[in-house]
Amino acid sequence: MSHEPFDTLAAAWAVGALDGEERAVFERHLADGCDVCEAELRSSAEALAAAARSVPPMIPPSQVKEALLRRITATGSARRETLPPRRLVWAVGSLVAVLAGAGFTATFVATRYEARLGQVAREAAALRASVQRDEAALREQIAVYQGAVDLLRDPATQIVLLRGLGPSPRANGRVIWHPVAGGHLFVANLPAPPPGKAYELWTIGDAAPQPAGVFQVDGSGRGTYRIGPVAGGQPVKVFAVTLEPEGGVPAPTGPMVMASVK
Ligand SMILES: [Zn+2]
Repeated sequence: MSHEPFDTLAAAWAVGALDGEERAVFERHLADGCDVCEAELRSSAEALAAAARSVPPMIPPSQVKEALLRRITATGSARRETLPPRRLVWAVGSLVAVLAGAGFTATFVATRYEARLGQVAREAAALRASVQRDEAALREQIAVYQGAVDLLRDPATQIVLLRGLGPSPRANGRVIWHPVAGGHLFVANLPAPPPGKAYELWTIGDAAPQPAGVFQVDGSGRGTYRIGPVAGGQPVKVFAVTLEPEGGVPAPTGPMVMASVK
C-alpha cells in the first residue's frame, strides 16, 4: 500500500481535525507502526508544547506557527488531490486557535503573576518605610530620655515646674535645666494648638524673653522638647510658653499658656 494517502493526515490528526472513516483509517495506519507519521506527530507535539511553555512576549509565536503552516501548506499543494481545501482551512484554523490559546494563557498567567508580584513589592516597601519611621521615632525618644537622665546625674541640674495659665489651666510641665548644657521640657494636658499655630518656649532672664524653640503636643496633650543652652550662659529666671504662628516668632506676640512657678 502506498504511503501517499497518509502524507497529509498526520498534521490534521495532531490538531484533532480528522474524523469519521479517515480518522479510523489513519489510526489503524499508526497502530501498524509508521516512522514517517510518528516523526510528523512528534514535531507537531513539540511545536505545541514549546508554544505552551513560552513566556511573554508570546503572541504571536510566529516562528513556530509559520514553520507549521509552511509544512502543512507545502504538503497540501504537492498532494492537493489527497487533501480537500476545506479540511486544510479547518486544520490550519484549529492549529492557529490552539497556538493562540496557548499564547493567550501564558500571557494571561504571566500578567496576573507580574501584577501580584508588583503588589507584594509595594506592600513590602510600605512596611519597610513604616518600620523605619517607627525605629527613627524610638531612637529619638531614647535619645531624649538618655539626655534627661544624664542631666539628672549632674548636681548643677535643677527641676523647674511649669503651671497652666489662662486658656489652658490644667496644663502642667517640667523643665530639667542645666545652666551650661541646656535642658528638656516635658508638658502634659496642653491642648493641641489651633491649625497654623504652635507653642513657643521662652527663657527670661534680666533682659527681653529669648526664643527657645517651637514645639507641638500629641493627641493626649503631651510634648517633649530639647532646649538648647542660652547664648552667653545668661541665667534663666523664668520659662514661659506662648501660643504663636507655627513658624515661631522672635518676640512673644500670643497669649501666655504656661509659665514656671516662682
Ligand atoms: Zn505513515
